Amino acid sequence: MLDFLLNLFLKIFPHSYADPEDCDHNWIVMACVTSDVSIDVVCYSCGLLGNVPDPTEDEWMANADAMENSYPWHEADRIVTYGKVWRP
Ligand SMILES: [Zn+2]
Repeated sequence: MLDFLLNLFLKIFPHSYADPEDCDHNWIVMACVTSDVSIDVVCYSCGLLGNVPDPTEDEWMANADAMENSYPWHEADRIVTYGKVWRP
């Protein structure tokens, strides 16, 4: 019975999130923001949201289908965070 409940819990919450304060962020590209030409990223580990302003043209093009195919973002020092956390 306990196993059953635990499995159910894991199905509903398949991912446990780290604390954004002491997370070693794993950024993935989530979407491009066409209104101001920037790239939205989210940390897979803690759910913290970030934004990369002024992407290069190549980065921008690579970003076009990020909604369907998210990919990692490695230049953490270019990310601006604003304290919002995304927990699907
Ligand atoms: Zn993180």
